[in-house]
Amino acid sequence: MTKREAYKEVLRRLRQRYKKTDETFVVWTTPLELVVGTVLSAQCTDKRVNLVTKNLFKNYKTAKDYAKADLGTLKREIYSIGFYNSKAKYLKGIGARLLKAYDGKVPKTLDDLLTLPGVSRKTANLIMAKAWGKPTGVAVDTHVRRVAPRLGWTKETNNVAKIERDLNTLLDSKDYLAINEHLIMLGRDLCKSTPNCAACPLQDICPTGRRNLKSKSGY
Ligand code: SF4
Repeated sequence: MTKREAYKEVLRRLRQRYKKTDETFVVWTTPLELVVGTVLSAQCTDKRVNLVTKNLFKNYKTAKDYAKADLGTLKREIYSIGFYNSKAKYLKGIGARLLKAYDGKVPKTLDDLLTLPGVSRKTANLIMAKAWGKPTGVAVDTHVRRVAPRLGWTKETNNVAKIERDLNTLLDSKDYLAINEHLIMLGRDLCKSTPNCAACPLQDICPTGRRNLKSKSGY
């Protein structure tokens, strides 16, 4: 099986295992909500973010709402999310930047998204794919960074820019988002820091899984 055939098979099997994806990711209804939710989700669970944004999004609907927000109030509103001090500043900054440069709208290019405070390449790639249906690259988060090298899709284990480049070369762009979401679900479920290869549906096509099986069976 070639690497490309293997990745398609990985996606097929993971789609079978994880049929329902919506509730495990940031909940949003507008591009601005997606930007805010994704920025808030850095180093925090999506579940916690969704609890907080449920109320937050009732009070903040436009870029102007964030730009004009009282910083102390905003901090209190997102207090239960990690790094709330800097994230509150990011949200206010995003509102201001959107108003100043983009007529209050979320921009539709990667380069423009990267000018927003707190928006990393990972976040920008996600927004391009989810909000605009224009995948620009695989969003490499902590799970993708851990799982992709185990699957043999990249030799790089640390440098997220290099991992993204390797994945972008291997995958069809229409699969960037699906691979991101399914590797995240696999990373949360089985391919944790200590992988549970024995229970994994990819064991026979994953180089790390095969190695682990071999060493356990003594061959
Ligand atoms: S077989 Fe093991 S290392 Fe490979 S993806 Fe599954 S859990 Fe991760």
